[in-house]
Amino acid sequence: MKRVGIIGGGQLAWMMGDAAKKLGVELLIQTPSKYDPAVTIAQETVFAPVDDVTTTKVLAKKCDVITFENEFVNLDALSVLENQGVCFRPKLAALTPLLDKYQQRCYLRDLGLPVPAFFALDEYLASVQPENLQSKIEDLGFPVVLKSRRHGYDGQGTFIIKDWASLQYQLDASSSKPTGNQASYLIEEFVPFERELAIIVARSVDAEVVTYPVVETQQEQQVCRRVIAPAEITANQAAEIEAIAKTLLNSLQVVGVFGIELFLTADGKVLVNEIAPRTHNSGHFTLDACETSQFEQHLRAVCGFSLGDTALISPSAVMVNLLGYETSQSDYKSQRQQLAEVPHAHIHWYGKTESRPGRKLGHVTVLLDHQSRDAAIAIAQAIEAIWYPS
Ligand code: ADP
Repeated sequence: MKRVGIIGGGQLAWMMGDAAKKLGVELLIQTPSKYDPAVTIAQETVFAPVDDVTTTKVLAKKCDVITFENEFVNLDALSVLENQGVCFRPKLAALTPLLDKYQQRCYLRDLGLPVPAFFALDEYLASVQPENLQSKIEDLGFPVVLKSRRHGYDGQGTFIIKDWASLQYQLDASSSKPTGNQASYLIEEFVPFERELAIIVARSVDAEVVTYPVVETQQEQQVCRRVIAPAEITANQAAEIEAIAKTLLNSLQVVGVFGIELFLTADGKVLVNEIAPRTHNSGHFTLDACETSQFEQHLRAVCGFSLGDTALISPSAVMVNLLGYETSQSDYKSQRQQLAEVPHAHIHWYGKTESRPGRKLGHVTVLLDHQSRDAAIAIAQAIEAIWYPS
């Protein structure tokens, strides 16, 4: 029996529950609140924030391997445990270049992978010559994208900047927050993408790498709303994205699942936007639509098992996030009952006790018997019409 410790107890850990049972693996969770979704599926939970390393040390004593559901950890402090022999999968070195978005961009660029043009804002803000910043931004041309280097997720910390005044406004707004002074940023070109794409990729302890079908993701206000699998792209584009995924996971010697978000431009160019060093929202469709889910795959990888088949079990699928749209303690039972009547729909409700605007409360995946982007979008719209108040 393998005992797997997971740092983080949100829905990504919760969705490993069924796979753990199937594989005969026990899950032990470190998470701050007894209301976090994965508490219900864990054999044992240690309650503490994900960056509390003293607690991780306690967790590690009970487990064969430690993995991550949440990457906002304290790598320096965790490395003491790794040096003492705690087995982290992926190894901490695989996360080190990724947690800061600027360093992540540098790592991808140095690996020869295509990324948007970018630079770190801090050194220019510190510069005594403001014209340096001006010429750097003029090289990119407005709009540009301002991103917090750390702790951004679901669009938090990502701002589309149209002109100098809004850049100044955003920087002033951030520095007036209690922790704002320490915030550091990168600036990158705004990519007028045609589509956003993503790929889930897994690597085993034996360095076997498998990829899932490339998907299209649709964001609203920088939060993922829908995922269409597979994406309608050319075979060459799919091969290019699979190659990017393999290069990255081999270079970092990852053991486990990563999600990679990409842009596809109107002239067919692929650019990497972001790496999630864990299972990812763009792979939730795999629970119902693939031979092996990304959650099972991650457990297989970190336990040292052989990897599973990543093929789709239906010609296509569409996943729709159920995002909070109000502050409430409702369990939305009647909406969920209506969603259950959508043909071929699989509903996953994370059991969160509080809804807030933008919070991921659940998702629905519908399997389609043919591949059609238009049909997938129509199904997504029908689901959203049930979920969101008109
Ligand atoms: P987060 O880590 O918060 O998810 P992302 O970098 O993935 O932040 O950005 C969230 C969304 O913002 C993206 O999915 C995309 O829609 C938009 N976005 C981010 N960077 C750019 C860019 N350089 N050009 C255009 N849109 C962008």
